[in-house]
Amino acid sequence: MKFQVDQDYHIHSRLSPCSNDPEQIPENILAYAEKAGMKDIVLTDHFWDADVPTPLRIWGGFEVIEQSLPLPQGEHVRFHFGCECDMDRFSTVGLDRKNADKLDFIIVPINHLHFKERTIAADDFESADARRNAFVQRFWNLLQMNYPFHKMGLAHLTDGLVAGAMKDATFETHLEILDGISDEMFRKLFGRMAELGMGLELNVNTDRYEGENRERMLRPYRLARQCGCKFYTGSDAHHPSGFESGLRHMRQITEWLDLDEEDKFRPFG
Ligand SMILES: [Zn+2]
Ligand SMILES: [Zn+2]
Repeated sequence: MKFQVDQDYHIHSRLSPCSNDPEQIPENILAYAEKAGMKDIVLTDHFWDADVPTPLRIWGGFEVIEQSLPLPQGEHVRFHFGCECDMDRFSTVGLDRKNADKLDFIIVPINHLHFKERTIAADDFESADARRNAFVQRFWNLLQMNYPFHKMGLAHLTDGLVAGAMKDATFETHLEILDGISDEMFRKLFGRMAELGMGLELNVNTDRYEGENRERMLRPYRLARQCGCKFYTGSDAHHPSGFESGLRHMRQITEWLDLDEEDKFRPFG
């Protein structure tokens, strides 16, 4: 059966500084999910554990994200408590095991490379090659860690943030960075990811990719599927207006990849 978009595992509330929208509250998020026919959704506010030292102390600790608890539950929708947990330039992930146990789901982006000195060294900031190396290294390092991967997802793998805030970057820069990673390297990474049982997020602004660029963006996902990785969809909505477009993009990319229900990541059974 064709992949049904009935999950949204990447949603921010007003508690994320990049949302800060008084309308973006759990009740409104749940109402959207009920209307959209979702089964499981996850709140993933930005988070950095207060006990983990880092140059990336820009996100709130557990005391900030837990303000959303208890999450309202829907008639048809299960609303899970998660976070978007970052990685700093030393490949440290801002998550202590004791807090990992309190979270239903954890997404980690390796490509938040728009934070100079926080996620990538200043000397490497303007170099696409250095950013590509950092992307691969961070990806690999994450997969060596001792985390509960069965309830974790890799956020927005092909996002433009891999080239974020570079002076001379164009729309194509992030694709050039991804193009330079061989099929063989991606297979090594995705093979390990499949072994660990970590999910791969589909969270792409599909309006921005046509023709050859679309294929360049889709290549890693096609390779991941060949390696046995499982996929989940995420809108990355920061405002109520983001839900509708998010739903459209989630449906579009699962169609482009021709995914089936067997390809779905199911951390909640
Ligand atoms: Zn992100
Ligand atoms: Zn996000």
